[in-house]
Amino acid sequence: MDDCIFCKIINRDIPSDIVYENENVLAFKDITPQMPIHILVIPKKHIESIVDLKDGDEILVGKIFTAINKIAKDTGIDKTGFRVISNCGEDAGQTVKHLHFHILAGEKMGADII
Ligand code: AMP
Ligand code: ZN
Repeated sequence: MDDCIFCKIINRDIPSDIVYENENVLAFKDITPQMPIHILVIPKKHIESIVDLKDGDEILVGKIFTAINKIAKDTGIDKTGFRVISNCGEDAGQTVKHLHFHILAGEKMGADII
């Protein structure tokens, strides 16, 4: 997707602070962190949101969560706790139309984060 900022990050057309990458998944630091640790985990395939997942994408979704598991262990937040959020559509305030999962961690959270 030519005008998708996350596809541009995947293609290295714009810089990002990458923390994890494999064949299917990329994870990088959020440019506007809302917690001490704020990482975005995305599929390399352009999918707009959870609503746009198709039959067969369940393998990819599993790979995203396997990546989240690895990132949690690598950063140590598996011990302290973290939150995973995916904003979907207008009411949730999704601003980037490329499926992404926020990993938030680093301090105690209330119910109002993201
Ligand atoms: P959402 O509001 O759920 O769509 O989240 C989009 C997230 O992408 C926000 O938290 C932004 O701060 C983040 N973001 C936007 N552009 C970039 C970028 N170039 N690099 C890293 N994070 C970004
Ligand atoms: Zn995209």
